[in-house]
Amino acid sequence: MPKILLVEDERSIAEGLKISLESEGFQVGWAKDGNEALTAWERARPDLIVLDLMLPGISGTEVCRTIRARSDVPIIMLTARDTEVDRVVGLEIGADDYLTKPFSTRELIARIRAILRRAPLGSATSVDDVPIEASGVRVDRSRHEVTVDDRPVELPPKEFDLLAVLVEHAGRVLTRNQLIDEVWGADYVGDTKTLDVHIRRLRGRIEDDPQQPQRIQTVRGVGYRFADRPAAGAYA
Ligand code: CA
Repeated sequence: MPKILLVEDERSIAEGLKISLESEGFQVGWAKDGNEALTAWERARPDLIVLDLMLPGISGTEVCRTIRARSDVPIIMLTARDTEVDRVVGLEIGADDYLTKPFSTRELIARIRAILRRAPLGSATSVDDVPIEASGVRVDRSRHEVTVDDRPVELPPKEFDLLAVLVEHAGRVLTRNQLIDEVWGADYVGDTKTLDVHIRRLRGRIEDDPQQPQRIQTVRGVGYRFADRPAAGAYA
């Protein structure tokens, strides 16, 4: 579970973000000013830092400089206004990305995932080139390959696309319509039975027991969620 340090002095914003990030499967620590941020960073060694630029005491830019001098941890900066100065300063002192307030939580989560995916492989790699993995299922889109607990599984194109979308958003509930839009396109005119049939076939191929699916979970009345649990060997 990736650890995120959230540095934000406004409690209402921080609490909302913390809840949203935790529901996406992140472990979130909160620091309400620059001093706390530096202490928390040293203690917790987060995988990524979301850093508000405007903080009481030590400013966000100082926090960023101090951490960057000693670590390559990815930093996403939150700026109050979309001014050229904030952006340039933020990126010059070593932030990896920035978001201008107000931003959507969805956008922040997308940026976090993108940075965490590319972080170990260097910035030259595009997102699609990086295999995605959850609950023992690994999807390599550039090679069109799927493995389940390291065992190769052959999938027809639509089932492959559907699995890729589910795994990419592992831990999150996707509605039937979202899945249909992603896999068949927004102009698809069919009924949602097609989706359910594909889900059933996928379960037959990737679940240990398709009658008791552990990976592709049904969320009644809403859609489906791909379980985001560690690979079996992770507990050893
Ligand atoms: Ca602030």
